[in-house]
Amino acid sequence: MLEDAGQRIEDVDAVFVTHEHSDHATGLKGLARHGHLKFFANEDTARPIQKQLSRRVNWKLFKTGQSFVFRDLKVSPFTIPHDTYDPVGYLFAWGEDDLFNPPRKLVWLTDLGYAPKFVQNKIQDVDYLVLEANHDIQMLEMDDRRPWSLKQRILGRHGHLSNKAALDLLESVENPRWRKVFLAHLSRDCNKVDIVRNTFQPLSEKQKCPIHVVDPHEAVAMEVEG
Ligand SMILES: [Zn+2]
Ligand SMILES: [Zn+2]
Repeated sequence: MLEDAGQRIEDVDAVFVTHEHSDHATGLKGLARHGHLKFFANEDTARPIQKQLSRRVNWKLFKTGQSFVFRDLKVSPFTIPHDTYDPVGYLFAWGEDDLFNPPRKLVWLTDLGYAPKFVQNKIQDVDYLVLEANHDIQMLEMDDRRPWSLKQRILGRHGHLSNKAALDLLESVENPRWRKVFLAHLSRDCNKVDIVRNTFQPLSEKQKCPIHVVDPHEAVAMEVEG
């Protein structure tokens, strides 16, 4: 996937881990072979992941809610409602008041059951936003592979944002400064790129902001028309 994006693992300095669920942690088994990588996480996230690994990786532990600097990034991990011990979203800020290196912000926000008010404030003035649009509620309800209890978990306050919830969140933000929004973490079984695209197309037009949908089968982002 890095190669497809024209990148090499040697050029990656660090990995920022949000929480220990397997869809976020499995990749560390392969990444652990690359000794130059640093892994940022809070302790409650790092501990269960390290137990699954055959070698010790270079953890850089932080406390949720406390900002730190890595290279030219100011990193602010913040708490989000999800069903692990200490799940986080990230705010990355870089640049300065300089024409050639202007200040920029990116928020990474996936795996949350709902968006608390402070999250709404946090994303208002970011340049780039990566937001979860996990499932189509109807497709999830119709799905016959997931037991009722799992559906309740996904739909619950510590589960995932549906397309509708993600749209509501974006629509609730006044005067957003977004240059680009990426909709990510789509369920392979309970969502479709086309559904997400159609859901967000009017918003993309209204706010004149390009919205990209990250296809979970391709791992590439496609722009919503308009
Ligand atoms: Zn999760
Ligand atoms: Zn996840």
